[in-house]
Parts: sequence; structure tokens; C-alpha cells
Amino acid sequence: MSEKISEKFTGFGLSPALLKAIERQKYEDPSPIQIQTIPAVMAGHDVLAAAQTGTGKTAAYTLPILDHLSKGSKVRPNHVRALILTPTRELAAQVYESVTNYSRFMPLHSTVVYGGVKINPQMIRLTKGMDILVATPGRLLDLYRQNTVNFQQLEILILDEADRMLNLGFLPEIREIQALIPSKRQTLMFTATFSDEVRALAKDFVSHPVEISVNPEEITVDSVTQWIYPVDKLKKSSLLLKLIRDNHWDKILIFTKTKNGADHLSRKLLKAGIATATIHGNKSQGARSRALAEFKSDKLSILVATDLAARGLDIDQLPLVVNFDLPHLKEDYIHRIGRTGRAGATGEAISFVCFDDFEKLADIERLTKQVLDRRIVEGFEPEKALPESQLDLRPFKPKKPKKMKKPKDLL
Ligand code: AMP
Repeated sequence: MSEKISEKFTGFGLSPALLKAIERQKYEDPSPIQIQTIPAVMAGHDVLAAAQTGTGKTAAYTLPILDHLSKGSKVRPNHVRALILTPTRELAAQVYESVTNYSRFMPLHSTVVYGGVKINPQMIRLTKGMDILVATPGRLLDLYRQNTVNFQQLEILILDEADRMLNLGFLPEIREIQALIPSKRQTLMFTATFSDEVRALAKDFVSHPVEISVNPEEITVDSVTQWIYPVDKLKKSSLLLKLIRDNHWDKILIFTKTKNGADHLSRKLLKAGIATATIHGNKSQGARSRALAEFKSDKLSILVATDLAARGLDIDQLPLVVNFDLPHLKEDYIHRIGRTGRAGATGEAISFVCFDDFEKLADIERLTKQVLDRRIVEGFEPEKALPESQLDLRPFKPKKPKKMKKPKDLL
């Protein structure tokens, strides 16, 4: 028997086809970001929202735009009525999956386009016109230049993970797209963090926006039990193997700092008889999708990923995240551990910290406002002992995020 959705959902005035789809998803109550965003979008406002993956942000914008689109005019061939821009192919695929789920009882056309796969099938799909198009910026512009997508009918633009788009250097593409689309439109912008660049972009992208924030950092940190293992750098892989065996871990997402690091670790695990898949920028789109699908369907118990490739991955029921290396950017720690403890579940996140990474640890502890518990495994006591943490309670000054020119060994 399906769960009944609450009056909080029915109270938004969403169409019955959407309520049926929500019921099919077994959502009972709207999440905080949905409670704030859905009415604002339905009232036709622009929205500027601080929300990261795991908060239910995709449904927060998809549900009201589907409602709007289902009531409007028919889309013309090659035209697009709502455009969702995402920084990565993975996020694009995931958002598209949500769009398909929520619109399953509606006669709307939608598709997704991203780079790394053949363009021709995408061009063919676009000919019939799309009520919703999910796209990464580069491929969208390629398609535009080939005259296969027309923005004259565009009513709604959504920028998802705007901060990450800027970090990945997509500003020129975004500006180019901005110049091509009608200025009279509804714009929704979602970002996990607010830098000066994000604010500058918001200034001329959204007009008189409703500003929404759900304080995602605290939510994530609260629902995830975290601790660290102080360990020497060279002993990290053997510690990981021991922990996997001793604890019978059978579903873990492991983060490494670099693509090489991910491959290297994956090979070590394979040698020890543990099959893993890796997700990073050197993998073809097909390989990445396959890896994710196998991990999601429990065919593989370990997925090794780099930060940029894993950003936005939505994996249900993930009990454990392992930070094999601490991330380059302290904010990514929050994004990483946000992969677990989602939608009301609790999760665990552990980090291996070697002496050289002590400063990174201090920054993470300052950001999350807590000293992380430490556990030492017998036989893995670090030779270079990790200094004691002193919690620094001063907030970080907002500063410009480092521009990653070409995320060569990170993606
Ligand atoms: P998102 O932040 O959009 O990546 O969504 C995170 C996860 O929350 C996804 O697995 C959604 O299916 C799920 N989700 C979204 N809205 C709800 C809701 N109202 N109740 C329960 N789960 C939800």
C-alpha cells in the first residue's frame, strides 16, 4: 500500500497528476526547501535559493514548473519552454530522472543533453520541441549553433548548482546563453554557497527574487555521525582494507583528492579481491553511468569518486562515506558527507587524516563548528602524530572561491 501524502503537499494547489506522481515517489511531507520554494515559483516569482543536494531542491523547482507548463501553450518544434542548466553530466542525468518521475502522468515532453556522447540523437530528439530541457552549458551551445534549439518560447530558466558552474569556469557559456534567451522570463537560481561571483551573477540573472535558505550545512552535519582516523599517508589503503573487512562494510562511497588517487585505490582494492567502480573525469560518460547504476543497484559495494564528479550524485540509502583524502576545498567536506544521512536517514562519515592534512582538518572543524572524534586502530598508530585540535569558533570570512582553471586532475 502506498503512503498517503500529507495536506502540506496537497495544500500547494499542484495539479492532481503531480500529486499522483508525488504519491508514487512515496513522499509524505514536503521538505523545508520545498515548503518555501513551491509557493514562490507558483506565484511567478524569481527565486534565489541556498540549497545543496539532499535537501529535495530538485523537486522544489521541478514540481511547480511542471504545474505551470502543463497549463500553458503547446511547444513548437525545436523550441524549449523551460531550461534547466546543470554543471555536470551526472547532475543533468539525475535531474532529468526526477523530471521524468514527477511528470509521468503529464503529457509533457522532456529530454536531457550533455557532452561526451553523440550529438546527433540529441539533435533528432529536439526537433519535436521540449517542454523541459535539462542541459549542461557547453553542449547546449553546440546544439544552438547547429540550429537545433530555439529559445523564443522559453519561459523559465533554472540554474542548478550555480556556484559549481562558476567554479568550473562556465561563466562565459552562461553569459552567452543569457544573451540568447528572452529577458522576460522566470528565473530560479540554486547554489550551495554564496561567493561574490555568485552574487554578481544573481544580480543580473534574477529579478527581485524571493530569497530562500534552508541552512543545509547544519542539517547535514546533524544527521551524520562523523569521526576521523589519524593515520600515516602510506598506511591509508591497508587501514581501509582492514576496516572494510572487520566491519563488513558493503556499501561505501569513497572520496579521493585526485583522479589518479581514485584509480590507484581502486586497483589496490581489486588486488585484495574487492571490486569497485570509479567515477571521475577521465571516464567516458558510458562508464560513469554504468558505474553509478551498478553501485545504486548493489551490484558493486564500493564506488570511488573525486569531488567534482561526485557533486550532486543522488544515491539512496548510503550508510557510509569515507574520505580517503580530505578535500581540497573545506566546503566539499560538507558536500561529501551530505551523500549520506539524507531525507531523514542517519549516516556515518569517516575521514583518514595524515599529518600533512592537519590544517585542512582544522578548517573543516572550524567550518562545521565541532572537533571531530578521533579513533585509532591498533597497528595503525601514526608515526607522525596528528596535533590536538583546537576549535576555532571564528566564522570564515566570505571570500572568493579559488578559480579552478581546468579541473585537470580533479574532475
Ligand atoms: P535532491 O536534494 O533534489 O537531490 O533530493 C534528494 C533526495 O530526496 C532524492 O532522493 C529525492 O527523491 C528525495 N526527496 C525529495 N523530496 C522529498 C520529499 N518531500 N520527501 C522525501 N524524499 C524526498
